Amino acid sequence: MIKVDGSFGEGGGQILRSSLTLAMMTNQAFEIINIRANRKKSGLLRQHLTAVKAAIKISNAKVEGDFIGSTKLSFFPSKVESGDYDFKVGSAGSCILVLQTILPALMLLNKKSTLYLEGGTHNPMAPPFDFLKNSFLPVLKKMGVDVEMSLKRAGFYPAGGGQLCIIINPIKCLSRVSINEFGDLLKIKPKIIHSNLPFSIASRELSTIRKKLNIDFDDRDCIEQLDSIGPGNVVAIDVITSTITQSFYSFAFRGIKAESIAQNCINQVNNYINIKAPIGEFLCDQLIIPMVYAKGSLLCSNLSMHTKTNIEIVKKFIDIEIEIKKINDVQVQLIFI
Ligand code: ATP
Repeated sequence: MIKVDGSFGEGGGQILRSSLTLAMMTNQAFEIINIRANRKKSGLLRQHLTAVKAAIKISNAKVEGDFIGSTKLSFFPSKVESGDYDFKVGSAGSCILVLQTILPALMLLNKKSTLYLEGGTHNPMAPPFDFLKNSFLPVLKKMGVDVEMSLKRAGFYPAGGGQLCIIINPIKCLSRVSINEFGDLLKIKPKIIHSNLPFSIASRELSTIRKKLNIDFDDRDCIEQLDSIGPGNVVAIDVITSTITQSFYSFAFRGIKAESIAQNCINQVNNYINIKAPIGEFLCDQLIIPMVYAKGSLLCSNLSMHTKTNIEIVKKFIDIEIEIKKINDVQVQLIFI
């Protein structure tokens, strides 16, 4: 039985999610204590519990400790099976993080799966739907993983109610991936993701982006009006290079000016362009598990605590060497051997 301490490193929900994923992929049981010990409200929240329930369902697992608030869990997976699955978070908690847990286990099977997920689709501190679509899934595609994803309804905090459909096609072969060049900067593409709020907010955000990034565009092409139960406003900027598309996000909050929301996203874009590492902070931690299977190398910005923690969790389940090579003060290369 593999023992995992949830207070280790980053100390949040990702330790649990990665452990569930790796347990299913390697067919090994684990016990985790101190779940989310470094968070204000520790233990399983709805989003984490839904990820546990989803993992139980797809791997016919036996489990102890699967209740809200639980800080300890034992998980005994059986065989992972593809199929049609339906998982609801039941709050505005991110359903994308539920997908993050089960996708790697389903993507290497030779039968198709269809998933219907409900919950938050555009949450701060989680990958938004568009991040998966524009940044994460295209890298998986390079590995040979074929996933189609559609947004039926957007879910923003606090109303939630987002709906996603995901089709995971059977894998043909898993290819090695090496992304080590920043490449040529081809385009900076802003988008305001918008629901049930005055258009003036989106216009002010786009004016700030136009002025500060010195780029031109037609506002009408850059506002995506989405169907949603509650209000939502997210500034998204895609940096498209000849190598990769990296998406950056800033979420609107009551009391924070539209210009400040836009500026936050602009700062992330400028930081990325200055560092010139193709794999940004968030993409890096999310690619660790797929890269363990695909192998190859990634040029990243300095490793986040999420990434370092994920690497250590992987090593608990799999005997693998991941070389961390410092390139300069701001870039690191990860080599999966
Ligand atoms: P908690 O920390 O409360 O347990 P959690 O379970 O929601 O929270 P974390 O462990 O913090 O999650 O993991 C968050 C995940 O969301 C990480 O994989 C991180 O890369 C991703 N993420 C966070 N912000 C962004 C963003 N702006 N764009 C893309 N991905 C993001």
